Amino acid sequence: MSILAPFLALFLATLLVAYHRLSLVVFTALSATLLVAVGLAGANLTATVVAGVLLALATLPLLITPLRQSAITAPLLKFYTKILPPLSDTEKTALEAGTVGFEGELFSGMPKWADLLAQPKPQLTAEEQAFLDGPVEQACRMTNDWDITHVRNDLPPELWDYLKKQKFFGMIIPKEYGGLGFSALAHHKVIQKLASISATLSSTVGVPNSLGPAELLLHYGTDEQKKHYLPRLADGREVPCFALTGPTAGSDATSIPDYGIVTEGDWNGARVLGVKLTFDKRYITLAPVATVIGLAFRLYDPNKLLGEEADRGITLALIPRETAGLEIGRRHFPLNCAFQNGPVRGKEIFLPLSQLIGGEDYVGQGWRMLVECLSVGRAITLPSTSAGASKLAAVVTGAYARIRKQFGLSIGRFEGVEEALARIAGNAYAAAALSQSTAAAVDRGEKPAVPSAIAKYHATEMAREVAKDAMDIHGGKGVILGPMNYLGRGWQAAPISITVEGANIMTRSLMIFGQGAIRCHPWVLKEMQAAQHPDPETRLREFDANLFGHIGFAISNAVRSWILGLTAARIGKAPGDAYTKRYYRKLNRYSANLALVADTSMLLLGGKLKFKEKLSGRLGDVLSQLYISSAMLKRYEDEGRPAAEQPLLAYAFHDSAHKIELALSGALRNFPIRPVGWLLWMLVFPFGRRAQAPSDRLGRRAAALLMSPSDARDRLASGTFLTPCENNPAGRINSYLPKVILAEPVERKFLKALKNSDIEALDFPSQLAEGVAEGWITAEEKVQLEELRTLTWDAITVDDFDPADLVSASLHRGQPAAQHRAA
Ligand SMILES: Cc1cc2nc3c(=O)[nH]c(=O)nc-3n(C[C@H](O)[C@H](O)[C@H](O)COP(=O)(O)OP(=O)(O)OC[C@H]3O[C@@H](n4cnc5c(N)ncnc54)[C@H](O)[C@@H]3O)c2cc1C
Repeated sequence: MSILAPFLALFLATLLVAYHRLSLVVFTALSATLLVAVGLAGANLTATVVAGVLLALATLPLLITPLRQSAITAPLLKFYTKILPPLSDTEKTALEAGTVGFEGELFSGMPKWADLLAQPKPQLTAEEQAFLDGPVEQACRMTNDWDITHVRNDLPPELWDYLKKQKFFGMIIPKEYGGLGFSALAHHKVIQKLASISATLSSTVGVPNSLGPAELLLHYGTDEQKKHYLPRLADGREVPCFALTGPTAGSDATSIPDYGIVTEGDWNGARVLGVKLTFDKRYITLAPVATVIGLAFRLYDPNKLLGEEADRGITLALIPRETAGLEIGRRHFPLNCAFQNGPVRGKEIFLPLSQLIGGEDYVGQGWRMLVECLSVGRAITLPSTSAGASKLAAVVTGAYARIRKQFGLSIGRFEGVEEALARIAGNAYAAAALSQSTAAAVDRGEKPAVPSAIAKYHATEMAREVAKDAMDIHGGKGVILGPMNYLGRGWQAAPISITVEGANIMTRSLMIFGQGAIRCHPWVLKEMQAAQHPDPETRLREFDANLFGHIGFAISNAVRSWILGLTAARIGKAPGDAYTKRYYRKLNRYSANLALVADTSMLLLGGKLKFKEKLSGRLGDVLSQLYISSAMLKRYEDEGRPAAEQPLLAYAFHDSAHKIELALSGALRNFPIRPVGWLLWMLVFPFGRRAQAPSDRLGRRAAALLMSPSDARDRLASGTFLTPCENNPAGRINSYLPKVILAEPVERKFLKALKNSDIEALDFPSQLAEGVAEGWITAEEKVQLEELRTLTWDAITVDDFDPADLVSASLHRGQPAAQHRAA
């Protein structure tokens, strides 16, 4: 037997143990057994002994705990404490807020898929379903988006009243306070449906149910505050807004210059201790109509009336609208989206301490309160809005592409249009799965800090991509605004979703990976905490346990990356059916890749990684796409593995996998330490980057699915407002699809007769009459073609206006021009 056999045995043992992530003891035992076996089988004795000595040298110091701790761990702990990136209080708060769900598994390099698949299928209660079928459907029917966005630049009064009466603003408020007490899933479905008819409507309902007075009061309010405000917020007697952003503090929200000084003042005729507030806030949704304004400011107590500290930190208060000195009511004009939004200002406004959210107990806790609550609202409002708009655009663009004919063919038959349709299908499918999965996480009791950032960023980006493709496919029909247009306002509103609740560039490059790497990593946070333990003995013991856990984890990820790369992820245990098993295996590979590259980046770049936004953005993309793919696979399982949905799943999955490989290769090609980048490349891409964008054939199947009625198409559209009524041209067009398809053979026959000059009349009615008279079509077919013509005209018609109708409303009222003031 070869001299190399003992070393080969050690190498195989290393691969086997690292791949399956077994312990050092198992590795030592297995290696020793293999060495004995190859020795007995006749391997070179000297080589076997050398290999055995090497094994003993490598493992014994690690297996003897006191030796390991003093000789290895202690110096490493010293070094680690030196390189540990200093965390600001803001970062600490962000890291400590929220929980870790399945995204932690994706960061583990070896996800436990059984955990994902064991999560219960999200389901509405009968009461929630009835609300969707009743009040939500009715609110959609009452919505005329053109009237809202062009004519009145607001919701009509009867719709405001209806929303309040039906408690749309109290979905997250428990029943004991008079709210609807809905699950996050129901909340998601309501916003999704409203967004499919009007972005103004969904934003108006979304904001009071997102991070703002109601949620903050529920978590931190005093009993008195809860009893007073929650019932009034639930039934719309109070309309809330929350004011954090100002002219100098946008993304960097902790830098707010707005302040309050603790002092005495008059309140309801009494002299009480309170706060004098000075602030300048802008972009505040619902502010122009709000009756109670949530405010974030920095509290100062120069006269030490509350305690010893003068700078008490960010604090939250509720300001009643009628408070003297409040400047409120003016509006911003956000891209023709007519939800109420405007500035709020105040100079030395007095509020009693009882108006601080949570009272004195929560003075200075404002940032923690906001961050703790942020993930829940962020997981729902914008992802659901994006999913609703994308799903609707997908099915209606599919219908339009079939109905609209050019060059004698449905435009959806042209490959260029088909390509855009397929992208829409994939994005809508992914956005739907993603937004539902983050809502479900909230219902499982999670505070999904990282998934909510992923969902916010990716769902809004997908919706923007869908809006762009849908506009392109509709051509002039998408561009010409008016009551017949169902896309233009959504297209205009897309950048709003991109900007709010954490602007997207920052969310991608700073938050997703920045929080994910530390929060979701199985060892990093524990190591950081252990290294800061005050007791030296516990510090060493805990750091030792976590450090060696981490080292084993890193070796395992390197080996798994390499093996799964060499085998193109064709091996390994994976759940799923014949169709999806390979997807799970691919994700196993990418999970190991992410863990390996993330670990290496954190180890080598330390605190500098925070400023390497291109690297962390790309690693954030990998984590995000892993999360999105998992959400899609879970949805596929929850739906009972529908074969008809496979083209959508496959398209979206391949798109995701392609994006993962692009992001990984971008990260490695640009890795700041080049030789490390090359080494990682060999482990991650031993045969180069292989994943391709979805194929043209797959794209054709996905696009075709949008252009013909089917269960899969209905499931994709489910939860959107498609009722074919006067104010819903999108719903009408969608409803025409079956009839249009049924009429296609007759239309072809008729067009052929026209083309061959068998029918010579010039106008449509005469052509039909001649067609019947000469036997080219039957009398029933004539009726069918007449109906087809009516439906087609409704689908392709655009609006035109009397010039006076497009004149600004203020000119109509005889005012010379809009009064404006710089905010
Ligand atoms: C229509 C609308 C409604 C809103 N509603 C509310 C509300 O109800 N209440 C409220 O308090 N606020 C609200 N906002 C404010 C919103 O949250 C802010 O607009 C957002 O935080 C971004 O701030 P900014 O617009 O000042 O952009 P900036 O902070 O100036 O950012 C500009 C760009 O720089 C990027 N950027 C900034 N820092 C970084 C970084 N470190 N790394 C990478 N990129 C970075 C951002 O991603 C963005 O692309 C609303 C805004 C709008 C437009």
